[in-house]
Amino acid sequence: MTVKSIDHISIAVRELGVVESFLEANFGLKVSHREEIPDQGVRIAFLDVGGVNIELIEPLDEASGLNKYLDKRGPGIHHIALSVDNINDFLSRLKGNRVRLTNEEPQEGGHGKKMAFVHPGNVTGALIELCED
Ligand code: ZN
Repeated sequence: MTVKSIDHISIAVRELGVVESFLEANFGLKVSHREEIPDQGVRIAFLDVGGVNIELIEPLDEASGLNKYLDKRGPGIHHIALSVDNINDFLSRLKGNRVRLTNEEPQEGGHGKKMAFVHPGNVTGALIELCED
């Protein structure tokens, strides 16, 4: 049971297109993948930065939980995603350690990867995503 790498760093945005254009014009970063994830109420874009991705997330609609997040905190870094070899084993370990989880079971995330959020109310203060290819 190991963390293999940082899979992506996610930034919450109001309009994907505006941020994509900014990152391309100023940093030469290009979108490698776009996807809608209706279950999570988001539209995402991935920009590859030497094997680690920047993930931009935009609310799909008014009802999206991300919309409420943006109203409260504004755009900015939303979560860090760690690529793990076995997400089910990790979730079991975290539950055993009484770590607070946002998702008790793996969900389907971008690229069809299994993912789960670890609650930011733990000591890091940061939302951490676990994902498995
Ligand atoms: Zn993510």
